[in-house]
Amino acid sequence: MRAVVSPIEDDAGQITHNLIITEDITDQKGYEAALFRKETVDDLTGLPNRDFGRERLRQVLGGGTMTAVIYLDIDGLTRVNETFGYECGNEVIKAVAQRLQELFPPPAMVCRQAGDEFLLVLPGLGIASEAEIQAARALRECSALYSVAGSMITLTLRAGVAVFPRDGSDAASLIDDAYSAAIRARETGGGTYRLFNRTLDEQVKRQFELDNDLRQAVARDELRLFAQAYVTPADGIVRGAEALVRWERDGALVSPGEFIPLAERNGAIVPISEWIVENAAKASSAMSDHLGFPVPISVNISAVEFRSTGLLSRLEGIRELYPLAAIEIEVTEGVFAGDMKTAGAYLKTIDEMGFPLAIDDFGTGYSSLSYLRDFPFSKLKIDRSFIVDMVERPRHRDIVAATVALAHHLGLVVTAEGVEDQAQNDLLKAMGVDYIQGYLFHKPAPIELFEDLIRRKRYEGQS
Ligand code: C2E
Ligand code: MG
Ligand code: MG
Repeated sequence: MRAVVSPIEDDAGQITHNLIITEDITDQKGYEAALFRKETVDDLTGLPNRDFGRERLRQVLGGGTMTAVIYLDIDGLTRVNETFGYECGNEVIKAVAQRLQELFPPPAMVCRQAGDEFLLVLPGLGIASEAEIQAARALRECSALYSVAGSMITLTLRAGVAVFPRDGSDAASLIDDAYSAAIRARETGGGTYRLFNRTLDEQVKRQFELDNDLRQAVARDELRLFAQAYVTPADGIVRGAEALVRWERDGALVSPGEFIPLAERNGAIVPISEWIVENAAKASSAMSDHLGFPVPISVNISAVEFRSTGLLSRLEGIRELYPLAAIEIEVTEGVFAGDMKTAGAYLKTIDEMGFPLAIDDFGTGYSSLSYLRDFPFSKLKIDRSFIVDMVERPRHRDIVAATVALAHHLGLVVTAEGVEDQAQNDLLKAMGVDYIQGYLFHKPAPIELFEDLIRRKRYEGQS
């Protein structure tokens, strides 16, 4: 009830009556409570939600006591969802939430971060190592049999642990720290926890940032097409080039060795590769027009992308728009991992479209000779690792010589990769290697500089 009292005075200013208005505010209070609850509590589990959890952590940190911030994540919930449906997945989340609450009563706080992720805050630690003990306890006590749709399933959790004030001073960064430690725990496998480690987790964070930015690299026009020439060993004349992509991010060039594997994992490889093939074809045909002879550019197609369905139609599009001699395709033995039959069918189609196929990094994978026998490769690229010490190591030299002979017998042309000095070049020339690619002649450079390089090298080679 709420009461408002208004005194009523007579003409002389004396209070003669009081007017009392009462109002039943049960509904309003109920409404306010519901609103507060909605904004702070997670519907499914009844735990504090992400925002409120963060707010409470802020308050706890204000108290100044040593506090553990533990990020917990259920292993394999996706599998439960897929097998038993989302309803069952939700039941599991609820059961874990309840168990965590029983294990960690106030002043500890458990809140739901997202999907299958929880945050556990333990204030008032005596020593920092207590955080680890409690994380291990959470994992142990929660990895049990859960009943789902009549079946009993075992679940494990993983955790990332950060400690205030040792690892960070504010709520947001402590949660981030615990989160990236949990990501590392995922890499180690289920049922484990990891402590925040500044060096390692900075790497994880960088990966995360890269991951996000990479998805937008094409749209933001951040890819740069570099190319590296390959030459004939006798005269050093440029015969073509390999397209090598770079990613310009915050003014620095990120190497493909770092971002291609990431792009393969997050799917960005498809638009990236589309961009590369298109731009390489464009550059090659423009150069050929200006110079009057073909300048083929080979592009690397990663194994992941090779299996993506759009590749063939994209190549078909390239074939319609540009001269056929513009593009060669390089693949590694990785394309044969898994379904060899499909890979073979793809290679056959690409060959039939008229694109020359090269097998890249030869010698580093399984190097099954049947690949050379059964699939329509026209070029073999000997990996740099055999070239690098072939002058000093006769065995490597012998392998290179044997590979060259074998490839020539099968009608393939041979490129040696990573040639850095004259002694290597002389040996390779004597072995009859067709093309040389390496820093000795040319380092990868922006494709725009390429036409000039060819003019110069032609001229040098001919004089
Ligand atoms: P790769 O296809 O074997 O390319 C050759 C790599 O060796 C290039 O590194 C090149 O810069 C480097 N290299 C060439 N000559 C020398 C040398 O004399 N000495 C040394 N130490 N290195 C040399 P890069 O550009 O960093 O590319 C690395 C790998 O990234 C490539 O290996 C390729 O697998 C992948 N990659 C590059 N561009 C693309 C692309 O556009 N798409 C895909 N899917 N992968 C790409
Ligand atoms: Mg290559
Ligand atoms: Mg290679």
